[in-house]
Amino acid sequence: MRKLSMPDDRQDLTVVASVSGGKDSTALILALREAEIPARYVFADTGWEADETYVYLDFLRDYLRIEIEQVGVEGGMEARCRHRAGFPGRMQRFCTRELKIEPLRAFHDQVEEETGKETISAMGVRAAESERRSTMPEWEDEGPRYTRDRWGGWVWRPLIAWSVQDVLEIHRRHAVPVNPLYQLGHDRVGCYPCIYSNKEEVKLISIRTPDRIDKIRALEAEMTALRQVRNEVTPGRYKHVDDATFFQTQRQGFSGIDKVVEWARTDYGGKQFNLFAEPPKGGCMKWGACDFAAHDAETEQVARIALDALDEGRRAEAMTIAREVLQRMLDADRMRRGV
Ligand code: SF4
Repeated sequence: MRKLSMPDDRQDLTVVASVSGGKDSTALILALREAEIPARYVFADTGWEADETYVYLDFLRDYLRIEIEQVGVEGGMEARCRHRAGFPGRMQRFCTRELKIEPLRAFHDQVEEETGKETISAMGVRAAESERRSTMPEWEDEGPRYTRDRWGGWVWRPLIAWSVQDVLEIHRRHAVPVNPLYQLGHDRVGCYPCIYSNKEEVKLISIRTPDRIDKIRALEAEMTALRQVRNEVTPGRYKHVDDATFFQTQRQGFSGIDKVVEWARTDYGGKQFNLFAEPPKGGCMKWGACDFAAHDAETEQVARIALDALDEGRRAEAMTIAREVLQRMLDADRMRRGV
């Protein structure tokens, strides 16, 4: 791959790279380093990520000796759900905007104020990931002001033409492992789970981390109770009182987490059949802040091996894969430090 470079008229601006803990944003960090382009790194914490992602981000901070700043809203996803007595969905898709785009925009504004220079928002999105991303340009200038449909500044997607092999290759060149979630069978990194999860992801989460399913069940009960209380104060405030569910299925409308998990563990609908409507194309989604399932051949293959192991009750084997990855991370870090 060609080395990244900045156009002459943008040399003086501050590059702020969004980091998610996924393989593409890690490749972005490495590509910026190779090109010796100074950058600040920021992670939008939804408070709803997998534990492995927080560990992995700490690893990147330590191993690459970089600061990855963190932004978010107090209480994260759960607090925003309590505020609304409901979960993000097709009609009220508040999660990306409130948990990622707005905190990131505020961070950029703060950097601009500190430095007196405009920022460039660098994102590790690739055209090959999805049809939606295939039409995204490498550079976009969205003008001077943030609105609901405009970032309001420079957006740079330097990896837009990269393949998954390019992404893995740059990890290898720098001896940086990918987030262990991939080895555990996941094909995306981000909210755990995302409201746009596919069947396989729900199944995997239910097997691997049943406590997350317990948490969703408890939240569904809490949101339903909150709606009832608020409806007593303001009658009719919530039309759907008994169906505050994390997932909204395409066909049945609302389904509690236990029904969704039960369905996800059947063969009906195929392994990759989406429970929900496709992730939307416009609005806050167009900046690529959320990482939706990429389904590239390599991660699918790794996913299949780990999932089959879990399916067949070989949980220990799947966990061993994760442990090996973490051990490699620690060994590499020790070697680098010479201890
Ligand atoms: S990853 Fe999914 S749940 Fe999380 S903010 Fe993005 S769309 Fe919402």
